[in-house]
Amino acid sequence: MELTALEGRILGIVKEKTRSEGGVIQSVLWGVLGVDNREGTKAVLSLVRKGLIKREPIVFKGRRTYKLLYSPRTINKVEIIVSLNPVMNIPCFYCKELQRCGSGGYFNPYKCILLSRYIRGLS
Ligand code: SF4
Repeated sequence: MELTALEGRILGIVKEKTRSEGGVIQSVLWGVLGVDNREGTKAVLSLVRKGLIKREPIVFKGRRTYKLLYSPRTINKVEIIVSLNPVMNIPCFYCKELQRCGSGGYFNPYKCILLSRYIRGLS
């Protein structure tokens, strides 16, 4: 994940302050970095979108601002095991007449003994 230089600086400070002080006040951070509110907010919102930090609204010295916290989103791997074995037992999957089979034809799923047996076996 690519970060701009400012995003990297903000992330480093937020990480450290989250560990040592439980977060950093956004308006205080602008003073530390020497950036204005517009520039800093843009970088912070980018980090929020990237899932690296989160913003919590707070009132600090009588003004509404945000507390920034390091909060990397962890993406857990999910393992999904899909068994195709039941589907592979459907006779049509291995039937050599599949291309010629259709309603009204000689090979017809409505009259097919193999398919009927399979369906009866399921119920
Ligand atoms: S319905 Fe019968 S004939 Fe048609 S494809 Fe399936 S198994 Fe083959």
